[in-house]
Amino acid sequence: TWGRVREILREEVGQNNYRNWIEPLEFAELEAGVATFLVPTNFMGNWVERNFGDKILRRMIELGEKVSRLVFVVAETGRAKPAAAKAANGAAPAAARARAESEELPGAPLDPRFTFDSFVVGKPNQLAHAAARRVAEGGPVTFNPLFLYGGVGLGKTHLMHAIAWEIQARNPELRVVYLSAEQFMYRFVQALREKQMMDFKHLFRSVDVLMVDDVQFIAGKDSTQEEFFHTFNALVDQNKQIIISADRAPGEIKDLEDRIKSRLQSGLVVDLHPTDYELRLGILQTKVARYREQYPDLVIADGVLEFLAHRISTNVRVLEGALMRLFAFASLVGQEITLEKAQDALSDILRASDRKVTVEEIQRKVAEHYNIRMSDMIGPKRQRSIARPRQVAMYLAKTMTTRSLPDIGRRFGGRDHTTVMHGVRRIDELKVGDTQLAEDLEMLRRSLEE
Ligand code: ADP
Ligand code: MG
Repeated sequence: TWGRVREILREEVGQNNYRNWIEPLEFAELEAGVATFLVPTNFMGNWVERNFGDKILRRMIELGEKVSRLVFVVAETGRAKPAAAKAANGAAPAAARARAESEELPGAPLDPRFTFDSFVVGKPNQLAHAAARRVAEGGPVTFNPLFLYGGVGLGKTHLMHAIAWEIQARNPELRVVYLSAEQFMYRFVQALREKQMMDFKHLFRSVDVLMVDDVQFIAGKDSTQEEFFHTFNALVDQNKQIIISADRAPGEIKDLEDRIKSRLQSGLVVDLHPTDYELRLGILQTKVARYREQYPDLVIADGVLEFLAHRISTNVRVLEGALMRLFAFASLVGQEITLEKAQDALSDILRASDRKVTVEEIQRKVAEHYNIRMSDMIGPKRQRSIARPRQVAMYLAKTMTTRSLPDIGRRFGGRDHTTVMHGVRRIDELKVGDTQLAEDLEMLRRSLEE
């Protein structure tokens, strides 16, 4: 029966998942309603149980097995790695095995949690979400490449995996490859070293959908960029879909060749904005609801989620971490999570996101960067070499703190709020065409956030 279940699952979960998670499972026995599987590692057992357990169970029952529970046992026969497990199963002749391996797709596994279903849409990410959906659904008009960018923890990887899942579900025969730019480089360097560039080129040029995550990583890595560029062009020429992510817009990635920048901009470029309060609350509520399906006893007092949405930074990963901590806390003490307990359990996270940048810190940093005096920053001089840095500082003060325009004006030697507004607008306009300025802003913002 397991052989048939596997075949059904192969269709259901897609080729990549099948190969990564289902194929390495070894059916051991079915005793008193308990089906036991051998797995190479504990991690894998947990993963399969969590993400594919229900599917496996359901299919086995459908095929008439009297099974009510699955158990995953780490096999002790020294088969520490999935690759080794395959070899141990492998009655296949060496030649056939080698062929199968060389045809393997070069992608990284997809996270089963990162689907469109679990992605909460709000104002800051609705464009990116809509574009991702459109690309995943295919159709006559699509965007190629789709370029997604945004800060850390805003959902780029989640959206990319969601696209991959969706495409695979719709067209199981398509070769969808997802990997990080770092993995791309690693594969490239490995191919160079082992003199297998032909295989490498063949492999990457034969995929139907290529997704490269965090492409800023290859900036400054010249030969990897070169190869990426050729792969990119070859795929676009064949009308294959390409999806790229980065932590900033193509034009703002330093040390990336211009021809690559312009290639990356030639399709649709969309950004994920920092989350706002509503989106954070929506994400928290969704995650709590999902958690409650498994642990109905969980009680969270009114106001706790609102408090978290208010107080925790824009990074969704940090938000999730806080929530996981609360869940763990609740299951340990078995009590309702009150606002007080939440504050207690999360004090370190709250303290970290409490650290706010002050206008003065911004002024100092900017003055230092442009090599002007702090007294000039807030003084009356109007020549450009001083006025421009001052406007940069105003811009950062407006976008990085919650201070009002009049308040910021006061801190710039008692300037009027319209002066501040003018400065902020000016920088906003300039940064579009002035890449040096855009880079400066990004650099300053980063170092101020540290
Ligand atoms: P990035 O790749 O942009 O750094 P990720 O995609 O890894 O960010 O997201 C970080 C975490 O936050 C992931 O666990 C992801 O599922 C979650 N996340 C981000 N945005 C959303 C969203 N809109 N809805 C649900 N979960 C989200
Ligand atoms: Mg990511």
